[in-house]
Amino acid sequence: MKIYIERTGETGHGNEMFNICRLFFDETELIYEAGEDAALRVRVDIGEGSGPGRVMAEIELTETASGMTFRSRHEREAGATAEERKRSVKRAAGYGLLQVLSQYTGLEQPWGILTGVRPTKLLHNLMMSRSMEQCRRILREEYLVSEPKVELLTDIAERQLKVIPDLFRLDREISLYIGIPFCPTKCAYCTFPAYDIRGNNGSVEAFLAGLHEEIREMGRWVKEAGLGVTTVYWGGGTPTSITAAQMDALFHTLHDSFPMDKVRELTVEAGRPDTITEDKIEVMKRWKTDRISINPQSFTQATLDAIGRHHTVTETVEKFKLAREMGMNNINMDLIIGLPNEGMEQLARTLEQTGELMPESLTVHTLSFKRASRMTKNKEQYEVAERDEIAEMIRAAAEWTKQRGYKPYYMYRQKNILGNQENVGYALEGRESLYNILMMEERQTVIGLGCGAVSKVLFPKTEQEGSYEQKIERFPNPKEPAVYNQSYKEYIAKKIKLLNEAYFAAERR
Ligand code: SF4
Repeated sequence: MKIYIERTGETGHGNEMFNICRLFFDETELIYEAGEDAALRVRVDIGEGSGPGRVMAEIELTETASGMTFRSRHEREAGATAEERKRSVKRAAGYGLLQVLSQYTGLEQPWGILTGVRPTKLLHNLMMSRSMEQCRRILREEYLVSEPKVELLTDIAERQLKVIPDLFRLDREISLYIGIPFCPTKCAYCTFPAYDIRGNNGSVEAFLAGLHEEIREMGRWVKEAGLGVTTVYWGGGTPTSITAAQMDALFHTLHDSFPMDKVRELTVEAGRPDTITEDKIEVMKRWKTDRISINPQSFTQATLDAIGRHHTVTETVEKFKLAREMGMNNINMDLIIGLPNEGMEQLARTLEQTGELMPESLTVHTLSFKRASRMTKNKEQYEVAERDEIAEMIRAAAEWTKQRGYKPYYMYRQKNILGNQENVGYALEGRESLYNILMMEERQTVIGLGCGAVSKVLFPKTEQEGSYEQKIERFPNPKEPAVYNQSYKEYIAKKIKLLNEAYFAAERR
């Protein structure tokens, strides 16, 4: 859909315009010069509102072919600073645009003008200086979030504070993410660093040697900085792709290097059932792994074959039972809604089988067409459900979890997610993943080690009236093992420099 945007008054909200248009049309192109081939013309006029300290956005949308026109006007408080005014202008423009596009297409957007990944983070920030009732009103009226999503957000935020009461006071501790970039095969929808373990992208041994060193060096920094570790998460790829002996050696180095006395949770994303063996479960138990994931994604064999997962439904069930028999009492399962050729019937089967196993937690993803995945590159080969059916499936999954005692405890959204929906983590009481909450809410530094691991370093807060600003700097490690093997020393040095800036620069000043 080509849309001609004509702006008067303040500009600088082009991204917002694009993100809102994208909610309605899969392929969106915004142009800022009149062109005859634009299907829609949108006039955006930003100016002063009806009273002092207010901004307003007037939006007019015209369909080129029919001349049909829709209008909207929205005002809001401008805020005290230039930065706040900019934010208000962006929101006012987004609000008006969402309204005219909803009128034009007849589509309701469940998340209103929220297009970011972490709506719960926004809610936590609002909650710092407002009652929950005021927060709900703001979400409904200022962000146009639908009632069911407001409920979801508030339930999750309240639950998170129950599970981690010191969520806002964890800045003398960090969490660790350790990325093992190998998998037995690559799934079609995957964009994680997941290289075929039998392939040639740098040897596994060379990668592990680098990772041991990175663990030792970063552990030394954390100890010297006097920080504790709250959670550890082994992800990837699939960490259980390597051998039991290799896993054991990594656990050794981890425990020798980091202060592990404050660790509240250690998770291993065992993920692919075809990598799980008795000896690996034994290693995980020996090192006191609290939580593992065994991910079916779907219990329909034809789907697993179509997405290249190379394991069977039976294998998922068998490995789950093996882990249980060996004493793993906190198992997560990931499911994906909207996989190719899947509708309500397949979802019902997946939920039924999940119900027979009753994992302690479930993460329900909605399929997202990520740019770099094989599925996106060959999009026409995959038949996926329509927007309405996706919404229906998500509702059915939410209802199912509720009936079985699971409660939502974290969520995030992605770009290109089918039907503009979300990914939600559900857990039985007391079985929530602390790492997932900490990572999603960005209240603590996460140090990433290994391939594709992204560190997120939190700088000291600058307090403002009833709220605060905080710089967060991302630092990604290389995704490819071959690149990691060559450059991990350089990455360790840069990461330590960044951490020193965040934790010690203020003291030096
Ligand atoms: S198992 Fe996970 S990380 Fe590995 S290829 Fe599949 S989606 Fe990617």
